[in-house]
Amino acid sequence: MSNPQVDTPLRVHWFIPPAAVALSPEKLRLIATRLVSGGVFELLLDGYPLAHDALGDVLSILRPAGIRITLVSGASSSETAGASRLDAPIPLLLDLNRLVTAQAPNLSLSAKALEAHRSLGLDPGLVLCLLRPWLPLLRPLLSWALEQQVPLFKLPNIPLDARFRHDFEQQICRASDLGQLRSELDSEFVRSIADLKMQIHDLFLWELLSGQPDNRMEYSGCQAANTLAYIDAQGNVHPCASWPLSFGSLLQQSLPELWSSALREQCRQYIAQPPKGCHGCADWGICFGGCRGLSQLHTSQSGRDLWCDAPR
Ligand code: SF4
Repeated sequence: MSNPQVDTPLRVHWFIPPAAVALSPEKLRLIATRLVSGGVFELLLDGYPLAHDALGDVLSILRPAGIRITLVSGASSSETAGASRLDAPIPLLLDLNRLVTAQAPNLSLSAKALEAHRSLGLDPGLVLCLLRPWLPLLRPLLSWALEQQVPLFKLPNIPLDARFRHDFEQQICRASDLGQLRSELDSEFVRSIADLKMQIHDLFLWELLSGQPDNRMEYSGCQAANTLAYIDAQGNVHPCASWPLSFGSLLQQSLPELWSSALREQCRQYIAQPPKGCHGCADWGICFGGCRGLSQLHTSQSGRDLWCDAPR
């Protein structure tokens, strides 16, 4: 049986839904125990972890193992109360998809949330899943984040969970959206936000926003089922947040067992094959087809990253 520690350090994204529909405390503790014994290196606790009574127990299992933990919060009253009960500061990200919407684009809620958490001695960063309705908000959000001197602005891959999956065809950005963004985020604006620390999952968005495309911190190519894994609200393990394939449940099997499954091996073999739409691309060696999870959902698009309109 293989162990993920011998493959590569594993970064896990775990979605914990609102307390009313979350797994029982016992099951959450079991998953946490299995993450520790599986050798996880870094963990993003996404969703509503701070609204859950079991968070203290879960953290008491995870922290002694030295796992680098980040919590996400929508800054509801129950989550802010949860943050106030943390017995030691933990990196925190405020969820802009919950605080700012196209229907309510003003930043007053986000400003209040930042202030509330800073008064607790926390220094939250911001996280935004860049779906289509948020595209017009990206420029003002980046400028505001810089003004607020947040420690991090994270643009992660798009989780295909209950939050977004119902309408992903409409919500997920395509190459044409990148073209639109390019016209809005000119080089002068990108230079103006150079002091904002950003963590950008997508290569194409990184190239647009970083102003230093040769200095990318993320791994090259699709890391699904390699250095990335995603745990959904029911405890099922997926190659990454953007890939709906399930390897099985952490409530039934250990992480090394799921990680040594034939399904995981097939997934990695699939990723190793260039998509037909990438043939001849001069940037294959840095991109490797980009996000292969989202492209699974659009088989008519030649298997390329959805932000990419043609080989380079
Ligand atoms: S064709 Fe596009 S998605 Fe494929 S490797 Fe080249 S840049 Fe990446």
